[in-house]
Order: sequence, then C-alpha cells, then structure tokens
Amino acid sequence: MSEPTNPFVSSSGRRATCMEMLQLFLDGEVTTEQREYFLSHMDHCMPCFKSYQVDMAIKQLLKDRCCGDGAPVDLVAQIKAQIIQKDS
Ligand SMILES: [Zn+2]
Repeated sequence: MSEPTNPFVSSSGRRATCMEMLQLFLDGEVTTEQREYFLSHMDHCMPCFKSYQVDMAIKQLLKDRCCGDGAPVDLVAQIKAQIIQKDS
C-alpha cells in the first residue's frame, strides 16, 4: 500500500507536520484534496486521531457550556488530560 501524494507539501518542498496538518484541518483551511488526505492519514496515525478527538470534545464542551469566547487555558488543559487518561 503506497502513500498517496502528500498535498500538504509547501512550495519549498517541506512537508507539514502532523500538528500543522491537524491545525489547518481544524481551521477548515484545507482544500478538498488535503481534507481527504488528512482523513485517511488519521486512520493510521494515532496521535492525529487522538488530537482530533480531543479537540472535537473540547469544542463540543465549550459549546455546551456556552462560555462565550474562549475558556481559561487551564480548563482546556484539564479537559485534555481527562480525555487522554480515559483513552489509555
Ligand atoms: Zn499524523
């Protein structure tokens, strides 16, 4: 099984890291090609998959609680720790 061409390579030829890809993906700043690449990348990249789950959970939580714009950083860290702990 060969990897599809990585559409996240910048014009300088540098590949985006997992975190960079994830950030772009979460920000919605990706092309359809990049989106599809990242989705299949997540299938076999546990760190990306986990970060994505954590981020989604936090967004949902913040939305549910309606904290306005942005929760305190330590609350976010706390939630992340809880989710990661629960998973492992
Ligand atoms: Zn990854």
